[in-house]
Amino acid sequence: MRRDEIAAGLAEVQERIAQACEAARRDPGEITLIAVTKTRPAEDVRILAELGVRDVGENRDQEAAAKAHELAELPLTWHFVGQLQTNKVRSVVGYADVIHSVDRARLVEAVSKEAVRQGRAVGCLIQVALDDDPGRGGALPADVPGLADEVAAAEGLWLGGVMAVAPLGEDPGKAFARLRDVALAVQERHPRATMISAGMSGDLTEAVANGATHVRIGTALLGRRKPFVR
Ligand SMILES: *Cc1c(COP(=O)(O)O)cnc(C)c1O
Repeated sequence: MRRDEIAAGLAEVQERIAQACEAARRDPGEITLIAVTKTRPAEDVRILAELGVRDVGENRDQEAAAKAHELAELPLTWHFVGQLQTNKVRSVVGYADVIHSVDRARLVEAVSKEAVRQGRAVGCLIQVALDDDPGRGGALPADVPGLADEVAAAEGLWLGGVMAVAPLGEDPGKAFARLRDVALAVQERHPRATMISAGMSGDLTEAVANGATHVRIGTALLGRRKPFVR
């Protein structure tokens, strides 16, 4: 049964988080598991919620909007973790509690304006580019504190902290150590912006070792995704 599969995946991920915390001498209570449910049916999200998961992540607006509206009665925090175009902001602000991919001033302005219009308070993480590939999104580390200031000053938004995806082909521990430095620079100016969203199925241990507070896990929880066609 699907529920048993998901329960087993969840137990395994929780065990990996516990071990990573032990190795890093951290309290597992500091880590929030975000179940990344992209490409999965709403029913999987419902099962996760029944199993006690409270945070879910999606990366494509169309799919996320449908699920979030269908499951609006569940006690879930919705995280938008994908690259965000300004023409999707209106839709995303309608359901997302936290947007992990804020990486440019234009987007800050657009999300703020829409949050005010809809009367919502939207959490924003500044996505940090840990390599030089602009195609994957993220602000350059040097630009992050300035963007964080803009989020903190914008109406309708609260600054959560930072997010990153480890670059391909580099030791994720080294990359996440750079992310932690950026996070600390932000926290010096904004002490409550303590979120560090880092770590996926393949690198959660390195992320936890480097201060992650939120890990975004899809495959290890729900199984491998079919590659989707765009
Ligand atoms: C898909 C995705 C994840 C989850 O990746 P897995 O390797 O399946 O755990 C995490 N973060 C982002 C931004 C994603 O797009």
